[in-house]
Amino acid sequence: MHNFGVRSTPKPGPRSGTEEPLCPGNAVLPPAPARPYALPAKRARLASRWHGSRDLIDLNQVDKFGIDGHKLHLHPGRVEAWLSGRGIYPIYAEIALARACNHRCVFCSMDFVGYAPLFLDDGVLRARLTELRRLGLKSVMYAGEGEPLLNRQAARIIRHSRRVGLDVALTTNGVLLRPDLCRRILADLSWVKVSINAGTAATYARVHRAKPADFDAVLSNLAYAARYKKSRGLKTALGMQMVLLPENRREVLALARRAKAAGMDYLVVKPYSQHPLSRTRRFQDIRYERDYALAERLERLNDGRFHVVFRRETMRRWDEKAKGYGRCLGLPFWTYIDAAGDVWGCSRFLGDKDFLYGNILKSGFRAIWEGRARRRSLRREVELRRCNFNCRLDEINRYLWLLKHPPEHVNFI
Ligand code: SF4
Repeated sequence: MHNFGVRSTPKPGPRSGTEEPLCPGNAVLPPAPARPYALPAKRARLASRWHGSRDLIDLNQVDKFGIDGHKLHLHPGRVEAWLSGRGIYPIYAEIALARACNHRCVFCSMDFVGYAPLFLDDGVLRARLTELRRLGLKSVMYAGEGEPLLNRQAARIIRHSRRVGLDVALTTNGVLLRPDLCRRILADLSWVKVSINAGTAATYARVHRAKPADFDAVLSNLAYAARYKKSRGLKTALGMQMVLLPENRREVLALARRAKAAGMDYLVVKPYSQHPLSRTRRFQDIRYERDYALAERLERLNDGRFHVVFRRETMRRWDEKAKGYGRCLGLPFWTYIDAAGDVWGCSRFLGDKDFLYGNILKSGFRAIWEGRARRRSLRREVELRRCNFNCRLDEINRYLWLLKHPPEHVNFI
């Protein structure tokens, strides 16, 4: 049995940060000053070609949320514990509040779970969130197998998550994020990302298989959220996300302009990823080489307030279909809880009993995480050929693989 080293209950308070850097003698270096950094003229000209920015580059504004990458290296304590073979609890959880959706997006990777309504019980979930925070969980994202805001208790759950000290995020299609709900939840969220996959109402209706009027409703909800955020001085990051498809290619720029006008902090443009269980096969052969150049046009819209995160690297990896690691190593750092309360090793293997750790409606999280089913599951090697490219832990797996299999000459930093 691993030594899991459970800590005492953390105090709710400012949004949880990363763990202490592991320096010899525990010397903690002071943080770098958070102010614009003036680049020398030649570098500034080069940088401005990349970032479409002015000579004075504020490096904090370049993908300041670190979306195009991973952040596990900012948790050296947990990584160190894992490297030395100690049992660890997850840093991050994805929780599906609803297995029901008001849209039927043509690229939906979760279509295989069906749309029969199922909602996670909020009483049990709140108790488990308190326990999870005590065990060391730092953040939770509500998303999952459907539209999370269809769960009528979503606001209560978000409130509770924040109250126990978790960083909370929401991925939604934004239709139900109306002003009254926005006022109830926005202050408790670190970020909200809205899936909006077109730049016009007509294309939106085709891609989301929804009413064209939902497009304007979502934009109006988000513009309200931006105004509300500003009026309250909130730090909640507001973002949109588009999965780049042949259907919406010509509307990326239009959506970016709308996102900026609505007061968003960012727009993410990302590639499709084929879930092996998904019924949809329509986009499985999609390629992105001819879209890389879009990045430069989009990045011209970037300024200190708005940023387009064009996930070119992720698109390149999708095109090349190459995994940079030999094993999945990241599972101990995250957890996935579905709308039925089942805890899975990975959302890719929903429904596969070999990856089912337990159910939060029947037992506490600690018993599940330290239980026999999970230990048996982790001993089993995941066959990577069964996994989707660009899965949620792809970057994390690359990082952990490198830690376990460092190249030569690592000391020449
Ligand atoms: S899909 Fe990704 S996270 Fe899931 S088991 Fe495969 S490699 Fe690991």
